[in-house]
Amino acid sequence: MVKERARILVVGGGYVGMYTALRLQRRLKQELRRGEVDITVVTPDPYMTYQPFLPEAAAGSISPRHVVVPLRRVLDRCHVVVGEVTSIDHAVRTAAVTTLATAEDGRAAELIGYDELVLAPGSVSRTLPIPGLAEYGIGFKTVEEAIGLRNHVIEQMDIASSTRDPAVRDAALTFVFVGGGYAGVEALGELEDMARYTARYYHNLRPEDMKWVLVEASGRILPEVGEEMGRYTVTQLRRRNIQVLLDTRLDSCADRVAVLSDGQRFPTRTVVWTAGVKPHPLLAATDLPLTPQGRLRCTAELTVDGTEHAWAAGDAAAVPDVTAAEPGTDTAPNAQHAVRQAAVLGDNIVHALRGEPLETYAHRYVGSVASLGLHKGVAQVYGRRLKGYPAWFMHRAYHLSRVPTFNRKARVLAEWTLSGLFKREIVSLGSLEHPRAEFELAAGGKPPHDPSDDPKGSS
Ligand SMILES: Cc1cc2nc3c(=O)[nH]c(=O)nc-3n(C[C@H](O)[C@H](O)[C@H](O)COP(=O)(O)OP(=O)(O)OC[C@H]3O[C@@H](n4cnc5c(N)ncnc54)[C@H](O)[C@@H]3O)c2cc1C
Repeated sequence: MVKERARILVVGGGYVGMYTALRLQRRLKQELRRGEVDITVVTPDPYMTYQPFLPEAAAGSISPRHVVVPLRRVLDRCHVVVGEVTSIDHAVRTAAVTTLATAEDGRAAELIGYDELVLAPGSVSRTLPIPGLAEYGIGFKTVEEAIGLRNHVIEQMDIASSTRDPAVRDAALTFVFVGGGYAGVEALGELEDMARYTARYYHNLRPEDMKWVLVEASGRILPEVGEEMGRYTVTQLRRRNIQVLLDTRLDSCADRVAVLSDGQRFPTRTVVWTAGVKPHPLLAATDLPLTPQGRLRCTAELTVDGTEHAWAAGDAAAVPDVTAAEPGTDTAPNAQHAVRQAAVLGDNIVHALRGEPLETYAHRYVGSVASLGLHKGVAQVYGRRLKGYPAWFMHRAYHLSRVPTFNRKARVLAEWTLSGLFKREIVSLGSLEHPRAEFELAAGGKPPHDPSDDPKGSS
């Protein structure tokens, strides 16, 4: 029984948003039934994205629909509002929300009142003012980007195979990835592996004709799996003819030429930007305290520091790491913390509503697993280092156990099993992004889409 009626507003439907709402609807079942509690989740998409599966979705090993979790089905006792929170006035407990309906009616944002706020909008790609990046770059944080990139890579192979211009062919077959964290390394590893396999179905393309480049500003890649495994990954990627350029930055990609700080120039139609994340800009549109880096300043109980009835976790929150040897360390922005913080956050809201003491979030990072393509991987978990097939297998087993809902686990497992029995998928369905092109042509409208016109090249 809660002390008084509570309206809980959850901002974000990602790891923290979904798991917190799930925890709350399980633990407050009776209160929800009696109408003492009301949970609203506001999120731009009606699904949660299991981001660690994006590289495999890009490689075609998992269907895009199976890397996302339908929020309306999972959060069946919550109100799911598809929209964006644009600002929050916590002093008066209101959030401004835009939805498709507000846009259609030409209205400004709608105000939603709340008693408890869970702020979990995650992070966005950390970009730099590099010439050409906004026009030609593509990120790797969403399922749309992952599938767009897959289609784009195969389409570039089609262009290279059909052009007579060697300069066009070279640019089409050059793929530049900027940022050597797990998003960049896994995306590159999986896509290169997929492209290498796909090349065998082209009469005039060989894997050696492709140029895959990883640009990393620091002296190491994949810090998540430790220094030794990072070095191993560099060696493995170089053995696959991938150029790994450490201590190197992208200076420009204007006019579709990637210019690096070491002077190298790569004409290319593909620049994938995975050089880290920064806190979501929504945080700056609130009256809540932020760290100099722009994350919400939180306590180890996952309250927003110095405020009442405001909670946060995940990429958006600077949560003290109480297990760290060095005081002042915050938990890193990753799924491992986000999921566990969401559980504590959900429990703490229930404690607060019932007038009970709060729990402290304490989790020691156990390490990471990363896939580098089919049957290739690298891992460091509980101090144990794994390479090659065992690491790849562990990567799959771990993420299968983690992906939310039994339904998704069964579908992903079925897909992996089938892909082990049959050949890999090698088609680009880029035309899905232009469903009216065929009809427009038939009706005498605009000519069909030309992929080279697309600034991001992801037609
Ligand atoms: C390709 C890739 C691979 C990764 N692999 C791993 C891995 O192997 N292991 C690991 O530990 N971590 C991994 N991560 C990191 C991990 O996915 C993030 O740390 C985790 O998603 C953070 O959870 P979150 O809830 O804070 O943010 P998110 O899961 O990003 O959720 C944020 C949510 O807020 C919503 N939102 C955004 N703006 C608004 C708004 N204005 N109003 C309302 N809602 C909004 C978003 O749509 C989204 O639903 C990976 C990330 C990427 C991109």
